[in-house]
Amino acid sequence: MFGKILIANRGEIACRVIRTARRLGVRTVAVYSDADARALHVEMADEAVHIGASPVGESYLRGDKIIAAALATSAQAIHPGYGFLSENPDFVDQVVAAGLVFIGPSAASIRAMGLKDAAKRLMEKAGVPVVPGYHGEAQEIVLLASKAREIGYPVLIKARAGGGGKGMRRVDHPDDFSEALSSARREAKAAFGDDRVLVEKYVDKPRHIEVQVFGDNFGDAVHLYERDCSAQRRHQKVIEEAPAPGMTPALRKAMTDAAVKAAKAINYSGAGTIEFIVDASQGLKPDGFWFMEMNTRLQVEHPVTEMVTGVDLVEWQLRVASGEKLPKAQDEIALVGHAFEARLYAEDAAKGFLPATGTLHHLKFPDAAPEGAAMRIETGVRAGDAISPFYDPMIAKLVVHARDRAAALAALGDALARTEVAGSTVNTAFLAALAADADFAAGDVDTGLIGRHQETLTEVPAPSDETIAAAALAATDAGAPSAAGDPWSALSGYAHFHTLGRRTRLRHGEENILARVSARPDGRFQVALEAPHDAINSHDLRNLPRSARWPGHVTVFEGAVGYTFAVPDPLAKADVAGAASGSLRAPMPGLVKLVRAAAGDAVIKGQPLLILEAMKMEHTIAAPHDGVIAEIAAEGAQVSDGTVLVRFAEDGQG
Ligand code: ADP
Repeated sequence: MFGKILIANRGEIACRVIRTARRLGVRTVAVYSDADARALHVEMADEAVHIGASPVGESYLRGDKIIAAALATSAQAIHPGYGFLSENPDFVDQVVAAGLVFIGPSAASIRAMGLKDAAKRLMEKAGVPVVPGYHGEAQEIVLLASKAREIGYPVLIKARAGGGGKGMRRVDHPDDFSEALSSARREAKAAFGDDRVLVEKYVDKPRHIEVQVFGDNFGDAVHLYERDCSAQRRHQKVIEEAPAPGMTPALRKAMTDAAVKAAKAINYSGAGTIEFIVDASQGLKPDGFWFMEMNTRLQVEHPVTEMVTGVDLVEWQLRVASGEKLPKAQDEIALVGHAFEARLYAEDAAKGFLPATGTLHHLKFPDAAPEGAAMRIETGVRAGDAISPFYDPMIAKLVVHARDRAAALAALGDALARTEVAGSTVNTAFLAALAADADFAAGDVDTGLIGRHQETLTEVPAPSDETIAAAALAATDAGAPSAAGDPWSALSGYAHFHTLGRRTRLRHGEENILARVSARPDGRFQVALEAPHDAINSHDLRNLPRSARWPGHVTVFEGAVGYTFAVPDPLAKADVAGAASGSLRAPMPGLVKLVRAAAGDAVIKGQPLLILEAMKMEHTIAAPHDGVIAEIAAEGAQVSDGTVLVRFAEDGQG
């Protein structure tokens, strides 16, 4: 076993690799960019090396700096995690040339699977079923169109260098082929610098089922059963599970045999995944699955496999890379129970799953799974950390395991309902809606499910009066940093000293709500809400939903839905009027380094007003329009996320 390894990654996967390494007595070296100087993976590792600026091209993709860091810290091996350099064969060559071990397959194995067309030709030769289609070198449009006709419509055009669903077009009719081809090529050229494509049969009601394989350096390979990743949005997975619902012994045997054959065909060493597309239009049949691609690394969703097999895949990676044989033979690997993983992202499900950023002012996960279930929370962030625009906006993976699918799904719903995130837009409610979807619950999944149910899955009901009352209570509790834990004691103190009550304004979306909170001597309270919320609530505090106060806002959690209310600063006039354009706010916490304008100055659109230093970078805050400055932050001021930096005089607004 290695004495020390370097982890060439960040976030949850870096933390997850460190945990197993520590358990095995292996020392760890983290690498980090400017933005990650105080990140959790840096704190967890035994040592950490700064490798550059925040953009990935200047840090996590800099193989040279990473290898130099490994050599400087005397690490013997590099674990790439997933993404970044994990499937880059040139990096593997450089690691090996530097006398280090790459914890993963050989460069040759990665190259063999790197291009979809070559990989498919290789798999056909190895006797692995491949989607009927054309995977040849020739690319003339006439030829491709005639191949499409032979295959039979609908067909799918795919970039051979593709990934992340880019350069992929479904074509239903021959008349549309040439236009779809041009657009797929344009997209592929822009994304991968390679516009060559393949054409294949579009599988009806497709399910994405993948098989976890593991090989060692002695020519041995095993599988660790399948995962179903059919729940996808924008061709990306959101909830994964193991085993696949409705899997039959015959299909499992055929798929796992094919996966092991595929791994052996390229002398595969380490953790890998063979992705198959399965035709679920007439139930699962042993002749209805085809090889799609191989991912030559650990997958994001590997924990569901760990949950059902009891195997620590990272431990196996370290053992195999250090020269040990596979820890278990095929017949020693059993499948027990059912597991789900839900990916919690900072993203706006209602806006086409648009990635979001922000500071996670409040972050709370359930401490334990319900009776009879097990849970793992895989995360690389803690409360107060930022989701920056530089990296993947995944906050955590919620992984649950129970004796069967229904129990595991219930545990997942429960875990989501007890997860609290405030400070960024998150997909918790969407995940909970998906977990509760009738088709999903019945195991009737295919890759089109989310798209078909998008509207209901992303629909969020208006906040209830109880939710608004909880927000009003938290908002009026001005002194406490957070009213989430114990609003009761906050109010009892309040009741003694402010018996007349307080008024507060809340903004939810477009709506402004005026609330009046008054405490009663008996320790109960009343919240009077402005019409149409004219009801006066009189509840025991303990029955109200949980809430979290964060700068300028309150978030109230009703199950998995987080309702965020803006709480305008009563001193900020522009805000009370709802005129956000009248002021400029700090986009993230930082230091006001330089102020270049003063109150009373007339400024023009685009004119730099001040420089905010945040996350070791300088951000110039410029005037969004012509106007007269009413107020501006002081030089040297430490500001939090959302603090007003510049306020314009009303009449000066453009
Ligand atoms: P990428 O590498 O860009 O992610 P994949 O080949 O892995 O592309 O395919 C991504 C997704 O597209 C699959 O999970 C599946 O949902 C869908 N897909 C791929 N091939 C087909 C096909 N032949 N028919 C129908 N859907 C497909």
